[in-house]
Amino acid sequence: MAGLVDRFGRKHTDLRISVTDRCNFRCQYCMPAEGMVWLDRSHVLTFEEIERVARILVEGAGVRSIRLTGGEPTVRARLPVLVRKLAVLDVDLSMTTNGATLGLMADDLRAAGLNRVNISLDTLDRERFKDLTRRDDLDKVLRGIDAAVAAGFSPVKINAVLMRGINHDEVVPFLTMGREKGVIVRFIEFMPLDAQGEWSADRVVAYDEILAVAGEHFDFDPVDRGSSPAERFVYRDGRGEFGIIASVTEPFCDSCDRIRLTAEGQVRNCLFALDHVDIKALLRGGANDDEVLAAVAGEVERKWAGHAIGQVHFLRPSKSMSQLGG
Ligand code: SAM
Ligand code: SF4
Repeated sequence: MAGLVDRFGRKHTDLRISVTDRCNFRCQYCMPAEGMVWLDRSHVLTFEEIERVARILVEGAGVRSIRLTGGEPTVRARLPVLVRKLAVLDVDLSMTTNGATLGLMADDLRAAGLNRVNISLDTLDRERFKDLTRRDDLDKVLRGIDAAVAAGFSPVKINAVLMRGINHDEVVPFLTMGREKGVIVRFIEFMPLDAQGEWSADRVVAYDEILAVAGEHFDFDPVDRGSSPAERFVYRDGRGEFGIIASVTEPFCDSCDRIRLTAEGQVRNCLFALDHVDIKALLRGGANDDEVLAAVAGEVERKWAGHAIGQVHFLRPSKSMSQLGG
């Protein structure tokens, strides 16, 4: 099996699937408050189409993990049905969610075969949460985290994007919450993929700063990150671990093994890619499995060396994170 290998010899085994572009939140850094135009349903891949692409890439190209994302994946109707279809493949199946409906869905998703969940939560302060997400749902998300733990997902990870002037002072509250709830908190550097174009380098709360603040309050040791994008730190008192994803200050492009399938059926070889291949057109045009596989492999082959944030030739992609899936 040739696999999905780029021109630098990097093998790609992690598939991110956006199951919808829709969302029940409107996070400031991800979507405009008004005027988001959702894809017409006819343009969104069906469960059968998603399952077919996943099977082709798992069985024909060595994909080993699949992460469901969005938009918000839990707003896609009958999501457990899709999970059940994908769970029969030989993959680690996970999901990234805002967590607001996990209180209702965690057990069903677990029973359908979902292995792991990452929950996005950027603040533990109710007013800030309302500002950031434009929804008063902090309590629901906290209940969603508890429901995910109770349903047996392990580990449960919380992803927090830190932004200067908004939530840069929440490193310690987040770490404390992670230790209390038995979940892994991971801080993510703010990337220039915000819908409003408000990103600037001085709003990024960098890896070094996060680590310094954490070190003033907790004792921990670094551990081997393996293929994880996060630098990992384990508490010396045995109460779990936390991580930092330095996507801006220390890009992990060299070890990135991800490809993305968007809700409208585009395969993208990088979050910051300016281009894509239209897999939906192939699927709906009668292409056979080999042709679909060849198209995805060609897109991976074209992948560039890295995203070049902060360099003069960096170009923001025209899509926002909500359309790309994170
Ligand atoms: N709705 C789901 C959620 O919020 O987890 C899945 C999709 S969301 C686009 C995926 C991830 O992208 C979230 O963790 C979110 O915080 C992150 N994200 C969105 N915009 C970002 C940005 N500009 N920089 C860094 N992370 C971002
Ligand atoms: Fe929705 Fe996730 Fe984007 Fe927030 S980050 S608006 S929850 S897609």
